[in-house]
Amino acid sequence: MDLYERLKREARFMARFRGHRLFPIRRTDTFINKNSGHARGAAKCRNCPAWVQIDIQPEANGVDIGGPAISTHCPTDSKWC
Ligand SMILES: [Zn+2]
Repeated sequence: MDLYERLKREARFMARFRGHRLFPIRRTDTFINKNSGHARGAAKCRNCPAWVQIDIQPEANGVDIGGPAISTHCPTDSKWC
């Protein structure tokens, strides 16, 4: 499993823990350059506006997995209300 797939799996796992139900994580780097090798992806929750993003080569002050779906609970999930 390459790094992008591993980050995708980890992001889904963490978002699920927060009660979010994510749409499939889509590549976002391919809009600019198909073969840049700098894989990035993003997905939104089905039930609230929270999103998650992943990046295999984050900036020096960035993160590889981030977004509100990782850092906040889903308001529609009864487990946290
Ligand atoms: Zn949510």
